Amino acid sequence: APAETPQVVVDAHGLPYLDARLPVKKRVADLVSRMSLAEKAGQMTQAERGGVGTGGDVSSYDLGSLLSGGGSTPTPNTAAAWAKMIDGFQLRTRATRFQIPLIYGVDAVHGHNNLTGATIMPHNIGIGATRDAALAERAGAVTASEVRATGVPWDFAPCLCVSRDERWGRSYESFGEDPALVKKMETMIQGFQGRADGSDLDRDDKVLATAKHFVGDGGTAYGSSTTGTYTVDQGVTTVTKQELEAVHLAPFGDAVKRGVGTVMPSYSSLDVIGDGEGPVKMHADAKMINGELKDRLGFEGFVISDYNGIDQIPGDYKSDVRTSVNAGVDMVMAPYSYKEFRDDLVGEVEAGNVTGKRIDDAVSRILTQKFRLGLFERPYADTSNADRIGGSAHRAVARQAAAESQVLLKNDGNVLPLRKSQKVYVAGSNADDIGNQTGGWTITWQGSSGNITDGTTVLQAMRKAAPDATVAYSKDASAPTDGYDVGVVVVGETPYAEGIGDVGNGNDLELTAADKAAVDKVCGAMKCVVLMVSGRPQLIGDRLGGIDGLVASWLPGTEGDGVADVLYGRKPFTGQLPVTWPKSESQLPINVGDAAYDPQFPYGYGLTTRAEAPAGSEHTLQALARSARHVHGAKAGQALVTEARLIVQKKAGGSVRQAWAKPFAEADHLSLSGDYAGALAKLITAYREA
Ligand code: BGC
Repeated sequence: APAETPQVVVDAHGLPYLDARLPVKKRVADLVSRMSLAEKAGQMTQAERGGVGTGGDVSSYDLGSLLSGGGSTPTPNTAAAWAKMIDGFQLRTRATRFQIPLIYGVDAVHGHNNLTGATIMPHNIGIGATRDAALAERAGAVTASEVRATGVPWDFAPCLCVSRDERWGRSYESFGEDPALVKKMETMIQGFQGRADGSDLDRDDKVLATAKHFVGDGGTAYGSSTTGTYTVDQGVTTVTKQELEAVHLAPFGDAVKRGVGTVMPSYSSLDVIGDGEGPVKMHADAKMINGELKDRLGFEGFVISDYNGIDQIPGDYKSDVRTSVNAGVDMVMAPYSYKEFRDDLVGEVEAGNVTGKRIDDAVSRILTQKFRLGLFERPYADTSNADRIGGSAHRAVARQAAAESQVLLKNDGNVLPLRKSQKVYVAGSNADDIGNQTGGWTITWQGSSGNITDGTTVLQAMRKAAPDATVAYSKDASAPTDGYDVGVVVVGETPYAEGIGDVGNGNDLELTAADKAAVDKVCGAMKCVVLMVSGRPQLIGDRLGGIDGLVASWLPGTEGDGVADVLYGRKPFTGQLPVTWPKSESQLPINVGDAAYDPQFPYGYGLTTRAEAPAGSEHTLQALARSARHVHGAKAGQALVTEARLIVQKKAGGSVRQAWAKPFAEADHLSLSGDYAGALAKLITAYREA
């Protein structure tokens, strides 16, 4: 808690809503029954931190929430500074009649990307490539823990967008183009929030999640725009009712079942073919927000608008306020003026254009989450987990995610994995750049190239992985390129967020001229592997024939070590394409299931490699069993694992745990060639005969 003693204006103690023993429902009802209309309008307001100065308006306008939006820079860059800032605002709520705590929100879309030194996960597109739902949950849990440790209880993530056209500048925020994949990775919501009934939310390592952007954000037509400024991401999604339900709405149904606390409408408009209505702005779409989300899917959390999102509804501000609140928006993010928002909302209720019942519903939904988060009991930041931020346990999860997200697209002559004895020549714009490797939404909204936070670049990680080998580096491949066993050219995009992508790079999926030149130089001179560090597929075209290996690395985050893990065979490549890899821009949009489907690499594609013999303690039956399951599929692998366990238990004596961790030698050769099931079978035979 802050050093100053909170000034209690009204001694509210003793009122039922402050009694933590009562059920949340009772507490909410009690509090709502005491609040004035203006106080309720305040609860429905989320102001931009940068717009409230030192926070006097938090109490004078009874603000319910503050955010540090993507564009809110500079942000504090230590956990303690974050906590202090938020506590300072929280203190202001002590001067209000009911001392309702603020709920502070940020975008932590791949780790606590607002904080220097935090653990940065691969962006969602890479998480989708892992196909590992348990890992997505752990990534969410790490993020939640780091976010809450800075005093922030609410995260505007995950994006459940189903990315249908990779020219969209938010493609990398999507788990992939297939709604089934997006649904699979929604375990991340559990990672953020814990149990679906909300009972974990008051923990010091959990945060409220936001499913965004409802609905159809990933389906907008390229080039269509209703604002003229942002093509693509704020345009129109035109779909049949069936497509809407199967592709874009389906992930939200699952999110509701997972108990997601908040949902954010999309800036885009929805045009359902044949409903005779034309495009409707999502922030005004009562049919979808009230009808589908709240009534049909049964969403009980609250709807937070996108930033200035209601302003885009046609008409004056008063009608924007009326239309959005009546459509089901419960809290408005960064209204262009929170004073005007309050006055307009109060006015609309007094004029009978918005019912008191609607207001009470919105406020009750918001308060319910605040109670669940334990904010009434503990409004101030609990930084006791701050020492975990960017710590080795968290980075290990990010490293695993980075490794599993790598998709091997070509591997002629088994150029991968690299051998530690090889001389390697590394080149390209993204080989040694933490900023490019973490992408947008990192430290700043748009992200930026260069040394922006703590982490390991791909180059640094390769040097760590092969400390005794020559790993030479020249960004533009200008140094002599002869005399090396293999070249590794790391190319791709520079960071961007929202809009239409990396405009500086030409806003298309073409590699830059410099990247093309680096590929041509290195691959013309030696055997080579190309890594694409980018938020979306980059066109390889005719160059594919001239290279030996190709890897889609996505935006792997701060842990370049994970990339080196698969490059050097510490782990096998297991990633699979979360989106279709096109041959040319003219094929876009291209998605699995299209009638004419002739991509460079299809959705789901991904080769595997053998892993190097694991060192020391990893040389165990357990490691082998894990790989067998991973590479040969759950069913075949599992049967062998079960058999192995039984035999080990019987023959080896002692506990299964000990036997499981017992080093083995018998199956080395097979496991080296990637035949884990064969290796396991051999081991079983050996044990049987022993
Ligand atoms: C984005 C949202 C984000 C919000 C707050 C908007 O521009 O569309 O995804 O949560 O800003 O930063």
